[in-house]
Amino acid sequence: MTTENNAAAKKAEKLVAVKGMNDILPPSVPRTERLPDSALWQWFESCVRTAMARYGYQYLLTPIVEPTALFVRGLGEVTDIVEKEMYSFVDSMNGDRLTLRPEATAGIVRAMNEHNALYNGPLRLWTIGPMFRHERPQKGRYRQFFQLDVEALGFAGPDVDAEMILMARALWRELGLVEGRDVRLELNSLGQPEERRAHREALVAYFQQHADALDEDSKRRLHTNPLRILDSKVPSMQALIEGAPRLIDHLGEASRAHFDAVRAALDAVGLEYRVNPRLVRGMDYYNLTVFEWVTDQLGSQGTVCGGGRYDGLIEQLGGKPAPAVGFGLGIERLLLLLQELKVAVPSAAPDAYAVVPAGTPLPPVIVALEALRTAGVRVQQHAGGADGPGSMKSQFKKADASGARFALVFGGDELAQGQVTVKDLRAGSQELRPLADPAAWAGTLRA
Ligand code: ATP
Ligand code: MG
Repeated sequence: MTTENNAAAKKAEKLVAVKGMNDILPPSVPRTERLPDSALWQWFESCVRTAMARYGYQYLLTPIVEPTALFVRGLGEVTDIVEKEMYSFVDSMNGDRLTLRPEATAGIVRAMNEHNALYNGPLRLWTIGPMFRHERPQKGRYRQFFQLDVEALGFAGPDVDAEMILMARALWRELGLVEGRDVRLELNSLGQPEERRAHREALVAYFQQHADALDEDSKRRLHTNPLRILDSKVPSMQALIEGAPRLIDHLGEASRAHFDAVRAALDAVGLEYRVNPRLVRGMDYYNLTVFEWVTDQLGSQGTVCGGGRYDGLIEQLGGKPAPAVGFGLGIERLLLLLQELKVAVPSAAPDAYAVVPAGTPLPPVIVALEALRTAGVRVQQHAGGADGPGSMKSQFKKADASGARFALVFGGDELAQGQVTVKDLRAGSQELRPLADPAAWAGTLRA
């Protein structure tokens, strides 16, 4: 390289990830930050698939980019997300106003409306993917984060509200978390719009009486969206919020009955919860049941899962009126919690590691490994550099590091007799196995 080039390279900007956006790395790559690795991630996803299948929910994917108007109309203009957290931009090709989705519900509802999906009856759906919010990055709070999002569209009854909550509990159990200890359920009812109006008036009167104590955001929201003040995270506001009129005291008969039915279902299966009259959630679209699963283990980022009913949203986004309920779960937060609690994760290590001494002809090794993999064995092959596979010592070191229980040693002499040495790396014992019929002994390698 010339000196000129050198200088240019030094000057060149270092290419790093966007602030608040993380790489989810495999376990073998050392990480500077204590973020979950991809093995924990994949195990979580497999537990999700199990839980979703058990409750009859179908998987779908929607785009990461949507028209900005979808979120403005869906979430409400006076929300943290729409006011200050969205990654919005103008498509330079055609001038379209677009936004990286900050949450999944609006996109799913848009998709179901677009495809008249509710025409044939209600739907139970789930998806996983990245969401984007321009927040201050900290532990458990990122600018790109992943959510599991679950929605039941077209169901009006309290039964499906309870189902949602219990499905989350089923997931906790699948993951080895204990509800009541590791994660707790908080529950509230936001009633119906007319009940909220009565409560809103009481709320505005109350906050007006205490106008001096309001922070800037809250002052502004007093007349645009006073309910949002209850969602404020500003510490000096908490005592004032605590004393505010409660929506739960303004519920009518039907709303109360809906709430009682949800509670009765949860009581019947012995799921404990706390009714939290201050629980409001960050989006405007919620009504009736709202809930959060919270933990004490993650500091102020304690909500791992939040959701509720949103009976007005489908119509608000242009669909035929239909009720709905759903929740979003923050995957990074949940995985941080699993790490914190040192929850045991099933090993993702291979069953066997293939040690291939220098000079071994490759074709018979490949044939044997393919046959073992076809028989369901997880085999990692030692692959060498340009100058060969490396010493036996270094290969066995790699075999140990891989976490495999067995090493398959393809020595020249054994290979000539159509055999391979299977070494049990834990017990230290070894046996010769015939290469002609790997399926016959593949079972002895599987964990
Ligand atoms: P918070 O009150 O913590 O800001 P929220 O009410 O904005 O959360 P929701 O929009 O309900 O969150 O999203 C559902 C879940 O997604 C949250 O409970 C949380 O676990 C997770 N989540 C939300 N924002 C972030 C973020 N910036 N980084 C990581 N996870 C997040
Ligand atoms: Mg938020």
